[in-house]
Amino acid sequence: MCRHLGWLGEPVPVSSLVLDPPSGLLVQSYAPRRQKHGLMNADGWGVGFFDNGVARRWRSAAPLWGDTSFASVAPALRSGCIVAAVRSATIGMPIEPSASAPFTDGRWLLSHNGLVDRSVLPLSGRAESTVDSALLAALIFDRGLDALADTTAEVAAADPNARLNILAGNGSQLLATTWGDTLSVLRRDDGVVLASEPYDDDSAWQEVPDRHLVEVDGSRVTLTALKGT
Ligand code: GLN
Repeated sequence: MCRHLGWLGEPVPVSSLVLDPPSGLLVQSYAPRRQKHGLMNADGWGVGFFDNGVARRWRSAAPLWGDTSFASVAPALRSGCIVAAVRSATIGMPIEPSASAPFTDGRWLLSHNGLVDRSVLPLSGRAESTVDSALLAALIFDRGLDALADTTAEVAAADPNARLNILAGNGSQLLATTWGDTLSVLRRDDGVVLASEPYDDDSAWQEVPDRHLVEVDGSRVTLTALKGT
């Protein structure tokens, strides 16, 4: 399973969330603390953020810890809406930059932590890669993010072994699901973090229960149980 992180709040440097925290995505790429599936996340990474409403991405198929160019530039990248991930590829899936989250339809940036049988997903010309997560992202984009809860429940019903922790942002909103893996929320004075696991030992981190939808609008965080629970 991969690890992902979303931010909605004041503009902050990407490095302050991804690289600097004691147990941020950089450390999670080699020493995750709560990962249930897989030991490390060395099969790539991606950082997406909104820049005056435009979704921009930097993705790679190499381990995050080796990328000194990104480490040099990340402090200069500031955004109020960020979606980032480090990847542990599911067996049989391609390892290529286009298989690293976040995926995008131009409006949303989306990451998937989990796995799903590709035979239950429609083939889509919109998918960026043949990895299960890219096919799932294409389906979610086709259905619309307003239907994220229904689409998640539908895919879970079609593949009972699926793990479907999804995280998406569009510049003014973050959406996430828990279905089979961990997710925590941190409300800060300057914004809200959603992360597969806490990036530090702050006691304000709260775990999201499994099979829930999380909606972050401004500083408001809403949790709703998903169908099929
Ligand atoms: N199945 C996806 C992949 O292969 C996500 C894997 C994960 O969450 N570790 O990239």
